[in-house]
Amino acid sequence: MYDSIIIGSGAAGSAAARKLAERGRKILILEKRSHIGGNCYDRPDDYGILIHEYGPHIFHTSEEEVYRFLSRFTEWYCFGHEVAANVHGKLLPIPFNLNTLYQVYDRKTAEELEGILIREYGEGSRIPIMKLKENPNEKINAIADYVYQNIFLYYTMKQWGQTPEEISPEVTGRVPVLISRDNRYFQDKYQGVPKDGFTAMFEKMLNHPNITVKTSADCREYLTFTEDKILFQGEEFTGEVIYTGALDELFDCEYGRLPYRSLDFRFEHFDRESFQGRSVVNYTVSEDYTRITEFKYLTGQKDTDGTTIVKEYPYAYTGSEGEVPYYAILNEENQALYEKYVRKSEPYKNVYLLGRLAEYKYYNIDAIVKKALQLADKIK
Ligand code: UDP
Repeated sequence: MYDSIIIGSGAAGSAAARKLAERGRKILILEKRSHIGGNCYDRPDDYGILIHEYGPHIFHTSEEEVYRFLSRFTEWYCFGHEVAANVHGKLLPIPFNLNTLYQVYDRKTAEELEGILIREYGEGSRIPIMKLKENPNEKINAIADYVYQNIFLYYTMKQWGQTPEEISPEVTGRVPVLISRDNRYFQDKYQGVPKDGFTAMFEKMLNHPNITVKTSADCREYLTFTEDKILFQGEEFTGEVIYTGALDELFDCEYGRLPYRSLDFRFEHFDRESFQGRSVVNYTVSEDYTRITEFKYLTGQKDTDGTTIVKEYPYAYTGSEGEVPYYAILNEENQALYEKYVRKSEPYKNVYLLGRLAEYKYYNIDAIVKKALQLADKIK
């Protein structure tokens, strides 16, 4: 009855499903949650304000193919996403760039430092903070120290429970120091959010005669993993199974749980026009939460009374009921544990692992959509 079974309806599962469906394959999606869209899911709150239930998601890409694919299912509210860091009450543009430099230092010092940075790295360069810190030039080192202390250290301690030295350089490298006057958080050609929201975009993507979606459906109730075969409702299933969930859970966490960071989202509504006048403020030297997002500035929604914000409180995921594993914790030990689970999945020749959870990676939306489209092409 079905050619392919896809576990999970987030960006990975939905994009793969659509691509395979358009090639004529009949797809069943099993989604554990009561809704589609994975962590991109958005919905109106009690006040009619569109909120991102699992934290702020901003789409950005320079991949034409990804942009074209998603644009078939939505129009866009386009903006250059900007973030400010609240440093002892002062709002500074981040990523730290030449504009930030002039806000932190007096004009004369900033001019001198700008010259040194441009000579050393060239205009337009992007330097990860951990690289900048290694520079032996005393003046560059002083800038690196400022950025490290005021932008990275405390925020990273909150987010990961570890220092920037202890976590993968890939993570802090996502927010490099910019030798430019570009205040945008991302430098990609296309950025914004779907005009009617992410959920609406994924609904359109999954609206295809060859796709059946079952929500509130635990895949373990439909699929049985025997020694080397997968049974679907008791019979061998030889079509492809694309799994986008946490890999350890597929095997009852037999070797122990894969570690993740989770977030507690606390939403607040205010009966006033604006809370912070902008979409995202990172708290890099104070507070227990990492950032505050004010949704109306992220979604461009105009017809609202009042405003809704969310504060993010990070904590270590334990796997308890109701917790969500948001971020893989990238290090050698965890990778080795992940590989053990991959080996466990290898006897099932028709299983493909896809996405942040199943691949234990830190994917952006565009990167995972690209990977999903490639996988769907690869499947014969
Ligand atoms: N980071 C930081 N201060 C900031 C922004 C980011 O220390 O103001 C570090 C932190 O370790 C964070 C990482 O850079 O986890 C990546 O940030 P990004 O904004 O990409 O995280 P995401 O939006 O994916 O949570």
